[in-house]
Amino acid sequence: MIVGILGGGQLARMLALAGHPLGLKFVVLDPAPDACSGVVAEQVVGAYDDPQKLKLFADKVDIVTYEFENVPAESVRYLTDKLPVYPSPDALAFTRDRLTEKTMFRELGISTPEFYPINSLDDLQESVQKIGLPAILKSRTLGYDGKGQFLLKKNEDLPLAWEQLEGVPCILESFVPFSREISIIAARARNGKTVFYPVSENVHKSGILHLSTCRSDDPMQKAAENYSKLLLDKLGYIGVLSLELFHSGGSLLANEIAPRVHNSGHWTIDGAHTCQFENHLRAILGLPLGDTSAYGYCAMVNFVGRIPESKDVLAIKNAHFHDYAKEPRLGRKIGHGTVCSQREDEFGRSLEKLLALVS
Ligand code: AMP
Repeated sequence: MIVGILGGGQLARMLALAGHPLGLKFVVLDPAPDACSGVVAEQVVGAYDDPQKLKLFADKVDIVTYEFENVPAESVRYLTDKLPVYPSPDALAFTRDRLTEKTMFRELGISTPEFYPINSLDDLQESVQKIGLPAILKSRTLGYDGKGQFLLKKNEDLPLAWEQLEGVPCILESFVPFSREISIIAARARNGKTVFYPVSENVHKSGILHLSTCRSDDPMQKAAENYSKLLLDKLGYIGVLSLELFHSGGSLLANEIAPRVHNSGHWTIDGAHTCQFENHLRAILGLPLGDTSAYGYCAMVNFVGRIPESKDVLAIKNAHFHDYAKEPRLGRKIGHGTVCSQREDEFGRSLEKLLALVS
């Protein structure tokens, strides 16, 4: 069985690493000739909208999935006409646009920050009157890692924010004074069976995920699972889906969905009985889903822009080192480290040492 992946970055690399023991082969489509999944998957180098490259890619694979969801809709349509594509393009369409995504949250009774569509500076001024400040202006599409966002603190910020986002369709969101950010990763099989990983608690630095920790008894686990289940069933979703939430004043507010394996679930490679990458493959291939429980206390620290030496990470008790073999660049995720332990005190000490290597 040959799995085609749209996008050839570290998520594709980790999917392929998890899939090789299952006897799978991989082909990725990515415009960058040095895409980091190249060592574990065959690569078609080409743009996502290049008809010849799409055909070449489609002819090589039996099934298609994504590590990068912003592939042009027409290209995805072309692939769906020829091959099984999971998750379905219809499911992806909802998550591509923050307005349709948040509208879906609201329709399903999932709490989310107050929001309004913004198409002009007038809209922005009017909506700020309703929401108040601070508030966040976000581009509706193509935003990630805090890009395409502007935190509005005072009325004078409005024209500058609108200019910086270059007048693209946006939404304005109320600012949530959250106590923490969490995410729940779920895998839903072709037969509808769904499994959930323990919730990850996430800390960002400059809009980029810095640290994810997981404990098996998070008080918001059930509430997060309930929200995730509503979404998975509504979308008829097949594969792994991550839902990011704000924990504020005893309740959860949904921020956004990632319709794929997610950075906050990288701890599952070393810390869960079945990692998110393997469960995604199992789900899309119609195989039984694996146990999502964690071995103990787990954490993942991203290596952004700079990677510590492997010997320093591996000297830490119960630590694992993941190098994506990417050129270091400011703000670029180039690897991660994990620590897992059944003993809370030991876990705390190991995590402190791992964090010290990236501070
Ligand atoms: P996003 O791209 O929507 O995931 O936003 C990136 C980060 O900005 C989030 O992880 C939060 O730390 C912060 N953020 C986004 N939306 C809000 C909000 N409505 N209120 C407070 N912080 C937010």
